[in-house]
Amino acid sequence: MASDQVLPVKGMSDLASPEIELWQHLESTARGVFSRYDLGEVRTPVLEREALFVRSLGDTTDVVQKEMFTLDYQGKLRLTLRPEGTAGAIRYISSCGQEGLSKRIYYIGPMFRAERPQAGRRRQFHQTGAELLGDPNALADAECIAMQVHLLEEWGLKRCRVQINTRGTVQEREAVAQGLRDALNPSFDDLCEDCQRRFEQNVLRVLDCKNPSCQTIVAALPNVVTFMSDDSQAYFKEVQHMLELLDVPYTVNPRLVRGLDYYEHTVWEISHDALGAQDALSGGGRYSIPVEKKAVNGVGFAIGMERIQTALAGEGILPEQFAGKPDVFLVSLGDAALKENMRTAQQWRRDGLACALHTTARSMKAQMRAADRSGAAWVVIRGDNELSEGACQLKNLSAGEQSAVSIDAVPGLIR
Ligand code: AMP
Repeated sequence: MASDQVLPVKGMSDLASPEIELWQHLESTARGVFSRYDLGEVRTPVLEREALFVRSLGDTTDVVQKEMFTLDYQGKLRLTLRPEGTAGAIRYISSCGQEGLSKRIYYIGPMFRAERPQAGRRRQFHQTGAELLGDPNALADAECIAMQVHLLEEWGLKRCRVQINTRGTVQEREAVAQGLRDALNPSFDDLCEDCQRRFEQNVLRVLDCKNPSCQTIVAALPNVVTFMSDDSQAYFKEVQHMLELLDVPYTVNPRLVRGLDYYEHTVWEISHDALGAQDALSGGGRYSIPVEKKAVNGVGFAIGMERIQTALAGEGILPEQFAGKPDVFLVSLGDAALKENMRTAQQWRRDGLACALHTTARSMKAQMRAADRSGAAWVVIRGDNELSEGACQLKNLSAGEQSAVSIDAVPGLIR
């Protein structure tokens, strides 16, 4: 077994070939889709003040209570590795003054949660997310969901399921919570320990408890929207109407909560059947985040990239399909040919061809094996005879055909 010296920390992993080529493809596709919706990229620091997350996400949330990697810097600063991207994005937006409040941004990068590592749960994972500021209305919520579904389609996913719900407004949150407590009160003793604790602090979370006895109690509760104002119910209807207009398939799930305090109105989750127990690919919602006594309103989502890779595999799309391959592998027989091949490769690379070669003299057999492993479609073979004639042997590896051609003709033939 490999030692601690060469392995990354548990729950974190190195990302390299062949996965990395798939990730690069996913990221460039995302950048393309986001730009079509008029979004710009933001890269915020990975480390932020602990208070930013406590204030934005809420101090009773699982993430803040149990899952943050926080370090004490010289006894002066409490710094947290970001567990999600929205809090930092909103901090950035708030630093832009009035202009920030109409920004449309996206981010791609690592997030950190001190969870017990298991299938689909990492301590370092990656999210691609978007935040649309300004326009706090149902149309913006529908646009955000439609953009996300479009992105998942461009990535090649066909078996995603969109579930939506509403949390009502921040102002009516207490009324909704009280309505739920009243409805749950007769069954309090049958709730699991966690839910008994949530009952006072964060009663909405009882709705998505995985404990079977809690689920039975929850199934008999009235729909949460019945505790909300007419305006909130109309807002939610408008979101649904717009999704239909934009051709986005969805289902309403009245038990969908989303863990964080900052959500209001529309929340959603997108799942995929290839994911197993942790079947959420992505979550999103409208939010109101307090910054310096004001509230910043936006709507956004975050997609878990490790889970996207799993879902893609479930649909037969594998990292190997994206592996980078050289166009041509140059095999050198002798020192003079090696140096000449390096000169040729340098020129072809400047012209846009991907070339591979070994800079140590090896046997022809060893070089041909390496060419095969590299996945190159073509091999150029040169020794002293070919050099003196300005020629080479050009071999097509898949067809197995080989012929003598002028070295200058190779780029044209390959293309
Ligand atoms: P959340 O902000 O918790 O809703 O996370 C959004 C998405 O990020 C989830 O739907 C997952 O796809 C992904 N995600 C969240 N936590 C983890 C984790 N610990 N490991 C891997 N992916 C995660």
